[in-house]
Amino acid sequence: MSDKNIYKLTSPSVAIDIMQRHGFHTMKAFGQNFLCDEHYVCGIVDAAEITKDDVVIEIGPGIGTLTQLMCERAKHVIAIEIDKKLIPILGETLGAYDNFTVVNEDVLKADIKGIINRYSPSRAVKVVSNLPYYITTPVIMRFLEEDIKFSSMVLMIQLEVADRLSAPAGNKDYGVVSIMLQCAYDIEFMLKVPASVFVPRPQVNSGVVRMTPKEKRLTARDNELFKAIVKGAFAQRRKTLLNSLSSVKELGGMSKDAITAILQSQGIAPTERCENLTIEQFVALSDAISAERG
Ligand code: SAM
Repeated sequence: MSDKNIYKLTSPSVAIDIMQRHGFHTMKAFGQNFLCDEHYVCGIVDAAEITKDDVVIEIGPGIGTLTQLMCERAKHVIAIEIDKKLIPILGETLGAYDNFTVVNEDVLKADIKGIINRYSPSRAVKVVSNLPYYITTPVIMRFLEEDIKFSSMVLMIQLEVADRLSAPAGNKDYGVVSIMLQCAYDIEFMLKVPASVFVPRPQVNSGVVRMTPKEKRLTARDNELFKAIVKGAFAQRRKTLLNSLSSVKELGGMSKDAITAILQSQGIAPTERCENLTIEQFVALSDAISAERG
């Protein structure tokens, strides 16, 4: 660390002053709502459990508020920021840290595996982000589908989405996304963040989740069938499983009797509701249907 200025970026007046000096105006299109509250900055960074051995990838550093605390705790922080107008601001606010690197790119296009290979080839990175709402799903799906390795991912996202991602079976928020993501990750709800601690203030409250890759992903033998069953089951979540599954076209017109027999073979009552089935039960059900179809 050099002797350059350390700014108190969690103070709204300091943050606004820096933005004004740089002639910077936040852009809605980039989801620029900056977190200005020490308690919540610490809460998010604490959730990531960063140590001096960790390389952290931050998506969207903004003016560097979370980044600053992570630079204090991590070995290296690599931030991916789309807005080139923020680069000189980050140069000023994080100029004191020699363990900070900014990559001026769109996270949906950046070579994230290349960044990991370059900066942390032998230890899984931690990912942290106050994620702009408009890219929540594409970012998570990119990491999932491209199987980008990380040891944990701490994300601040819209509260309802955080509730859905982390919901366990039996919960009112449990649904298709909870199941698809929890096949690969353990997802914990960490904290709720009120809209009042952002500049500018967004319309909605936020929630922070921590995603940790499962040692072994839960996979069905026919993934397309699995997705169709889960989507079909939740298409009308108040219906019984038997009725919902009867309308899933991927089951190829399987009779109600045949579906009842398979459900019973799995110890599931045909009158059960989808939200009470665990992910493991959905996988087993999908595999049993797949086996029956041959
Ligand atoms: N981390 C800062 C904080 O907590 O105050 C800023 C968070 S702000 C909600 C989202 C940040 O992501 C902004 O800096 C925005 O410019 C950046 N961003 C938006 N879209 C992006 C993208 N596709 N790729 C990389 N960064 C993006």
